[in-house]
Amino acid sequence: MPKGEVPNAVNPPKGCRFHPRCPYAMDICKVEEPPKINLDSQHEVSCHLFNK
Ligand code: SF4
Repeated sequence: MPKGEVPNAVNPPKGCRFHPRCPYAMDICKVEEPPKINLDSQHEVSCHLFNK
């Protein structure tokens, strides 16, 4: 398995833990953990794409 491909659950990468393999990753994703955003009463996301 290539090193660094799967996020380490014990020591996740800085910023959004999905950024190493996210096709939408932006610069902010590497440094800042995205806040939790409520989409409606039953759905929430933690992603900078939804942080407007
Ligand atoms: S914050 Fe969203 S866009 Fe950024 S790396 Fe994480 S999942 Fe992808």
